Amino acid sequence: MARAGSRQTGTQRDHQAQSERPADSSALVPSRRQYLELKQQYPHAILLYRLGDFYEAFDDDAHIVARDARITLTSRSFGRNGRVPMAGIPHHALNYYLSRLLAAGHTVAIAEQLSEPGRGLVERAVTRVLTPGTVAETALLPSTENRYLAAIAPLGDRIGLAWVDVSTGEFTTLELNGPSRADLLRDELARLNPAECLLPDTAETMDGIIGHITRLPHWHFAPKRAAAILCEHFHTQALTPFGCAELPGAIGAAGAILVYLQQTNPALLAMLTSLRTESLGRTVWVDAATRRNLELTRSLHTGGTRGSLLSVLDHTKTAMGARTLRRIVSQPLRDLAELQRRQGIIAALVAATRVRHHLGHILASVGDLERLISRVTQGLATARDLLQLKSALEGVEALLGHLQAAQAPALRSFAENIPSCADLAVMIEAAIIEDAEGVRIRPGFSPALDQAREAIRETRQWLASLEQQERERTGIRSLKVGYNKVFGYYIEVTRPNLPNVPPDYIRKQTVANGERFITAALKEAEARILSAEGEIEALERAALTDLCHTLTSHADRLLQTARRVAELDAFIAMAEAAVRYNWVAPILDESDCIEIVQGRHPVVEATMTHQPFIPNDCMIGGDGPRILLVTGPNMGGKSTYLRQVALIVWLAQIGSFVPAERARIGLVDRIFSRIGAHDDLAGGQSTFMVEMVETATILHQATRKSLVILDEIGRGTSTYDGLAIARAVLEDLHDRIGARTLFATHYLELTALSETFPGIANAHVEVLERDGRVIFFYTVRPGPADRAYGIHVARLAGLPPWVADRAEAVLAELTNTRPVAMPAPPQEEHIPASPWEAGNLRGPYQLPLAGFPPPPVACQAVAHELAALDLSSMTPREALTWLFAQQARLRGHATHQVGQ
Ligand code: ATP
Repeated sequence: MARAGSRQTGTQRDHQAQSERPADSSALVPSRRQYLELKQQYPHAILLYRLGDFYEAFDDDAHIVARDARITLTSRSFGRNGRVPMAGIPHHALNYYLSRLLAAGHTVAIAEQLSEPGRGLVERAVTRVLTPGTVAETALLPSTENRYLAAIAPLGDRIGLAWVDVSTGEFTTLELNGPSRADLLRDELARLNPAECLLPDTAETMDGIIGHITRLPHWHFAPKRAAAILCEHFHTQALTPFGCAELPGAIGAAGAILVYLQQTNPALLAMLTSLRTESLGRTVWVDAATRRNLELTRSLHTGGTRGSLLSVLDHTKTAMGARTLRRIVSQPLRDLAELQRRQGIIAALVAATRVRHHLGHILASVGDLERLISRVTQGLATARDLLQLKSALEGVEALLGHLQAAQAPALRSFAENIPSCADLAVMIEAAIIEDAEGVRIRPGFSPALDQAREAIRETRQWLASLEQQERERTGIRSLKVGYNKVFGYYIEVTRPNLPNVPPDYIRKQTVANGERFITAALKEAEARILSAEGEIEALERAALTDLCHTLTSHADRLLQTARRVAELDAFIAMAEAAVRYNWVAPILDESDCIEIVQGRHPVVEATMTHQPFIPNDCMIGGDGPRILLVTGPNMGGKSTYLRQVALIVWLAQIGSFVPAERARIGLVDRIFSRIGAHDDLAGGQSTFMVEMVETATILHQATRKSLVILDEIGRGTSTYDGLAIARAVLEDLHDRIGARTLFATHYLELTALSETFPGIANAHVEVLERDGRVIFFYTVRPGPADRAYGIHVARLAGLPPWVADRAEAVLAELTNTRPVAMPAPPQEEHIPASPWEAGNLRGPYQLPLAGFPPPPVACQAVAHELAALDLSSMTPREALTWLFAQQARLRGHATHQVGQ
């Protein structure tokens, strides 16, 4: 019986676990009883039960593991309890299959063997529980991306949202208020892309939740209870230091995360040394569609990082730096002071080439300090991990040295914020050594360990001399002392010498050419070695655990250091990109203009190898027009130009340099883009519906401080409707919203709007038509385009010549009937008087710009008369008579039109 899916509720699973338990548990064979007892403790999880070299799942869990980890389903006999379904994961491939189970949204409890297999039942216990959002094992995590666990606390007219990356200790909370809170939540979740979301069991299902949903009892989200849990965890009296004391939703969400971690894996809590409260006022609001359209961290084309803005910037040397850069790129800011701080550091790094290279070189040796610290705080660190930590901390000291010695004040003050952990490196150095014997606790660190090692050394020496002693005692010159795993130490005597074997030799094993013996002294020595080895192992483990505990007590400082160093790595990467692609520092201010001189598209330019990218200017806002209407031929570079401007603003608002000769960016509060056509068939939305939903979002959310990029509005429907929508959207942006806007369109009719709307200016991408061929210049010039050149581009794309020729002919016919280039003035335009007349035209026709077709004359007359009627003085009968008369009049008019 397979379970319905991964989103089974806790209650369902509880019920199921109980139903599996036989009434009389004494009737079960011991291993079956042990399994069911463990399973009973973790009814919500898939229990993987270690049996020799396999982790086995039984019963319904076996079906799920077989399905989602793609493993063969078998069965196993439990003696008189019969056969049960079973799926086994080889122990060496555990991580591989775990990642599949976690990706499918399951919670997995792992029961390890705690005693050596021998006689009787092996002792077993669940040693860790993994959920999609609480994985800290490096092997199961993407190295350059954060894996978040989020919690959502709906609380009246506010929503709390908290998130944590348990492998790095990043723990943040936020409160969303106001009527757009649900939209804001969706957009934040799109940015964070959590692997798991915690929701109160009483909350309704919400739109836009990403990742596996785990329901928790609602009281875990209650602000008062959550505040107490947070204060206890951080050993504080109040939450004021974390900036969320007055934000009950934010507190509730953060508290729920703590409770969940306590329940699933308390060892992870040590990484949570601080809580950051984020404020939306500090960040630029970006909706999910814009994030996707601008290809910030993922290319629409490849689906991966290649071709995204991140790929141009990512010259980081460490995985933690790459994660930090991804976060920076995903979250543009409105905080001028913070942006100027970042810009200052990047500028200093750009100027100091040698320092930058030195720092980059050292960073490569620092590695992933954040996740190394996570291993330490979870008590999973090996001696080798600690040595790696030591060398990373030494690397940090070297970084500090370079930063402190730098000329630029920005770099020196950056160094002040990196706490030194040299003392901790010294502590590790004193405890661990790597020498000929491998990585181990340093001699002299623990007297008991030294004693045990000495005991082994002496016994081994004795064993080494034993061979010679016994040869002399027995006169057997070929006698050998050896060792194997099964029998331990032995004395081997060849067959011809067996008569000379002394009586104290005890025969143990016959081999091909002789016999193997032991003696009491040999056994004693072996026991001494074995016990000393056991003691050494235990003492080494204890020393490592102590060291990890001591280091964990410095987790806060270690993590601060790691985060600062990761940030430095990200800034160096941004400086590297600035140097490599010749970017400049933009001027940032609170003005409302965007002035870009000779701007370039950061990604297109980086990927162009054969020709140079043609730079273009952009001036909107300030005293000039706020809306730029960009027209021009297909393939002319309109979309590239629009995205280029959006990405330059984006780069400026993450603190980066920008691809331009010079730029001044008045900070924007929101960035919106509607680009290209795609559908969401699974979500029940056609291409046009997606386009309209995105447009509607923009019109509802954009403000005067926003930047709006609209590419081809209204293309997904008829020319008539499309043009009408495009114009209405433009008018709303101009009259009501006032956002700085770039609007690319093929509706050339719209270009005349600049004559009536002072805030709208035209620009076009330049082309030259010569001998029937179109040459693209990719330069953006003031003024409208003359025509679309669609058929030329279609030819370029390989449209069969007879189809292209026919299209030219149709175009000529249409343009004779109705000019498609610049529209004639409205009064000269022939307006189809009725739908019938419009239907007589062949194909779609272009609409006049200034106003849409006025109603036919008869309709106008009826409308006037209706407006003049005094309805209150008419009887119902009189009103109805009038209505009949008008209907007859209109019908007559229509018949007349058709008959013409
Ligand atoms: P359509 O109307 O068909 O969507 P478009 O006008 O939006 O076309 P883009 O898609 O922006 O045209 O550009 C087409 C191609 O032209 C791009 O893929 C790019 O290779 C090239 N291109 C665009 N702008 C430039 C530029 N400034 N310099 C060099 N090449 C450019």
